[in-house]
Amino acid sequence: MILRLRSASPEDTFEIARALGAALRPGDVVALYGDLGAGKTLFCKGVGEALGIPPDRIVSPTFTIVTEHAGPVPLTHIDVYRLAGVRDADGIGMRELLSGDGVCLVEWAEKIEELLPTDCIRVKFSFSGDDLREIEIAAPDLPGFYEFRARSIRFQPGG
Ligand code: ADP
Ligand code: MG
Repeated sequence: MILRLRSASPEDTFEIARALGAALRPGDVVALYGDLGAGKTLFCKGVGEALGIPPDRIVSPTFTIVTEHAGPVPLTHIDVYRLAGVRDADGIGMRELLSGDGVCLVEWAEKIEELLPTDCIRVKFSFSGDDLREIEIAAPDLPGFYEFRARSIRFQPGG
């Protein structure tokens, strides 16, 4: 299942993320792809809010690679930008982090592609103007996907 959405503002992206967050289950991994400034961290804030974690706690880490947030559903926020690659990731226990009990969000997921679970949810951002973002969301196995699709209808081109 693939959904292509159009965000025209940071608020749109936040709302899309919150809708996806509501569809997630403990154990889900969300892999985020896209260049610097695409909106990955903002998206994590929206997912966090859906899970009961205040958005201001989810920040763009400068040197921190992993932040764990306690909540009704624990949220692990990972930014692998500073990792050289899979060997580095293995060294900090990435496989264990990705198979935890909570929801796991990974920014710059392309860097650790080989380690991602096959059923992970992939969110790809591309820039199409100053505030415009195309957001493609692929989820091979997410029961809440249809509800998410319904909730994000106003962001679907032609929807
Ligand atoms: P990343 O984590 O991908 O580097 P951030 O989420 O930290 O990106 O930053 C995205 C920046 O782009 C923010 O400053 C945000 O206000 C801005 N922005 C402008 N339009 C959008 C949009 N439609 N969606 C997401 N962010 C947007
Ligand atoms: Mg970021």
